Amino acid sequence: MRKPIIAGNWKMYKTVDEAKRFAEEVKERIPSAEAIDSVICVPAIALDSLVKEAAGTDLKIGAQTMHWEKEGAYTGEISPSQLNALGVEYVIIGHSERRAMFGETDETVNKKVKAAIRHSLHPIVCVGESIEVRKGGQTTAVVRSEIEKAFHGLGEEEASRIVVAYEPIWAIGTGESATPEDADNVCETIRNVLSELYSETTANSIRIQYGGSVNEKNIDSILAMPHIDGALVGGASLDPESFLNLLGAVK
Ligand code: PEP
Repeated sequence: MRKPIIAGNWKMYKTVDEAKRFAEEVKERIPSAEAIDSVICVPAIALDSLVKEAAGTDLKIGAQTMHWEKEGAYTGEISPSQLNALGVEYVIIGHSERRAMFGETDETVNKKVKAAIRHSLHPIVCVGESIEVRKGGQTTAVVRSEIEKAFHGLGEEEASRIVVAYEPIWAIGTGESATPEDADNVCETIRNVLSELYSETTANSIRIQYGGSVNEKNIDSILAMPHIDGALVGGASLDPESFLNLLGAVK
């Protein structure tokens, strides 16, 4: 059985004080980590405070990106060992906003995934098609290629530690979610690709989230789908009550 995982992606929202207030409000009301992994991926400036704030609770903290090198002359970047030192557990890799605006490629995604695994971080690897790709009937080909490249060179045990987030780019921040059936079909395709790359046991152990305009209204129908193990949520994760309701949707 795969444990559901709901992760908030706060993007470039909230000051450190606002982030701390959020954590104070939700941390004692997070469902048991035995049943669900509840994660917020917060701006880098808030990582330290939030790890401390969430210590001893079921709330897990993640970063939104990182470099693949341990240290070096990479102005503005954050390394996996720096995340380790803070006690961060998760890191989003290859979000479409980073691919589109900050030069992230399938190759850098792969380097980051490997670095995350080396440093015992849980990578949440984002894949997904643009609207042009979808209209052109190329969704499967694009998502397959992104998965193959992200997992390139990783063994069975390493692969099993990755969370995949299927995020159609046209659904992110637009209010236009994929239908549960469409999302489920692509998540099934992703698992089929994973079972070509790995054993059935490994492929079946990898959690696949859907992301793209998930909210309190549509999360039930999304989580009801057989191939979807959770959600990566942007806008709707910013409000404490909304975030708690999203977690509460896991049955
Ligand atoms: C995201 O940031 O990954 C995302 C899915 O955003 P939203 O939920 O706002 O569409």
